[in-house]
Amino acid sequence: MSEEIQGSTESTPQPNNKSNNTSRPDNGTKPSASKPRPASGTKPTAQNKNKSRGRRRQSTPVDENLKSFVAKNQEAHKQRLNPHYKLDLNSKAKIRITPLGGLGEIGGNITVFETENEAILVDIGMSFPDEDMHGVDILIPDFSYLRQIKDKIKAVIITHAHEDHIGAMPYLYKEMQFPIYATPLPLAMIGNKFDEHHIKECRKYFNPIVKRQIYDIGNDFKVEWMHMTHSILDSSSLAITTEAGTIIHTGDFKIDHTPVDGYTADLHRLAYYGEKGVLCLLSDSTNSYNTIPTASELSVAPALDRVFAKAEGRVILSTFSSNIHRVYQAIQYGLKYNRKICVIGRSMERNIETAMQYDYVRLNKNIFVEPDQVAHMNDKDILIVTTGSQGEPSSALFRMSIGEHRHIKIKPTDLIVLSSRAIPGNEGSISGMLNHLQRAGAKVASEKDIHVSGHASMEEQKLMLRLVNPKFFLPVHGEYNHVMKHKETGIMCGVPERNIMLMTDGDQIEVAPKYMRKVKTVKTGKTYIDNQNNHQIEDDIVLDRQKLASDGIVMLVAQVDGKHTKMLAKPKVTTFGIVADRQDKIFAKEMEDILENFLLHIKDGQIENPRALENDLRQIIRKHIFRKMKKYPLIVPHVLVS
Ligand SMILES: [Zn+2]
Repeated sequence: MSEEIQGSTESTPQPNNKSNNTSRPDNGTKPSASKPRPASGTKPTAQNKNKSRGRRRQSTPVDENLKSFVAKNQEAHKQRLNPHYKLDLNSKAKIRITPLGGLGEIGGNITVFETENEAILVDIGMSFPDEDMHGVDILIPDFSYLRQIKDKIKAVIITHAHEDHIGAMPYLYKEMQFPIYATPLPLAMIGNKFDEHHIKECRKYFNPIVKRQIYDIGNDFKVEWMHMTHSILDSSSLAITTEAGTIIHTGDFKIDHTPVDGYTADLHRLAYYGEKGVLCLLSDSTNSYNTIPTASELSVAPALDRVFAKAEGRVILSTFSSNIHRVYQAIQYGLKYNRKICVIGRSMERNIETAMQYDYVRLNKNIFVEPDQVAHMNDKDILIVTTGSQGEPSSALFRMSIGEHRHIKIKPTDLIVLSSRAIPGNEGSISGMLNHLQRAGAKVASEKDIHVSGHASMEEQKLMLRLVNPKFFLPVHGEYNHVMKHKETGIMCGVPERNIMLMTDGDQIEVAPKYMRKVKTVKTGKTYIDNQNNHQIEDDIVLDRQKLASDGIVMLVAQVDGKHTKMLAKPKVTTFGIVADRQDKIFAKEMEDILENFLLHIKDGQIENPRALENDLRQIIRKHIFRKMKKYPLIVPHVLVS
């Protein structure tokens, strides 16, 4: 049943592995498997060898002592690079890792780390629905497995405050509660969520932590938060140490050497663990295709400066409300060009407020103006920072674009700046919003370098792999093709292929110093949430909506004489989304014929069981409609027997 990966004991540096070969210019010669290649790249060919033999050059004698140091250095490299030597291979301890979300998808991150007696959860995120999940605003992970192991769970550990890592917290905490360990900003943002969901009292589970300190969680886990750079402040990687060894979970990250707040990624701690020996690395795969290193957050500054320098009227800038550093930089350029700042959009206002309350950014309160003041001010004195960079219909910018915002009407002198990328799937709504904005006369800034990603590209993933130097590698956060690409990068960076597993949600992986294997699959899935009331929408409702949207509905009400199994009147037929209005009558007649025929062939006694009767009728109508139209509409028959 279980596919097992035996831990590879081969040495880590492998100049001869497959991926390395493909990245080198292929000269048709296979590099030797054991000997290091000559550095010059010119390999002696058979011909050359003969020539040099012909000259009978006397070779210099080998200094045996010197040579012994080559061997010693090779051994030192082996010790340094092969994590195998740093793990306790006699240990019987093991740990199980189960992603319940975040694999095979972008978002909805939640991972269980489990020993024999205890478990911790890392991140409780949400994700966004597909377009055909009508009326669904967000998706949260299925908590079935957590219900099963509830008594083992010692804590929830949070890496950072993005929605896809904390968004499902209130839904979990309404049902079950555990201590929450995180740095202050994620806790503040989770607190906002708890307040919104009327579970303020759950703030009592907060355990704020200090980075670089090691926390005992339960008896089995020691956890350290290591600072990481990402598109939200106060992000962390985790070092989770158990008896089986240390697991590094990167969380979301990029390696930004010039972050806006000066807090660079804590490469030293990663290296420290790498030096000590890491059992397993779970690393962010989101940008695993990007070959160009992800630029620093600071690199958007010149583009912002250019935009603000040439703006003639108001500047309306939109970005992800959680990207406080982006907002902060925009505000700095607003101030440079003597503009006052107007923040519009609930999440934007709340996030800036939280970041200021907790001293993550320092801004003078008098630089802000209220939305209702904007109309009375000079256009050149205004910077509006707002939500809606994804063209969300409920966002402030979208409402401005269609002229439905209470305070801000778009003017031809306005300059719109979208400082974000389109999340895949949102291109259509963004384009639609840009159409509205431009129709209203506004200009749209098109500088390409006005946004940078928050995720590690291939080169930074390599740096992570090399620093941490894990024995086993589990690429996480991404669809299958992203983790697959990250696996290739892992192999390039010395992790043997058989020490890498590509997980999907629900896979339970057991890791021990000697092996890594899949042991079982647990139940996963998504729960649909309606944001209007924060309530769950049952699966069958969403299925019905999909059916209604794609295939329509037929309703049929018939009155039948029970004694003679005959129609008492023409059935009432109502359809939506199946036939055009002008064909209604023809369709109704077809239904009438079907019903008549159905009643003719009815079995004895069947008329007494209306439920079965309606079911049979539904089947016949379904077959008929499929034969004619190749559609499966919802069919709602009501047979009233009198
Ligand atoms: Zn993130």
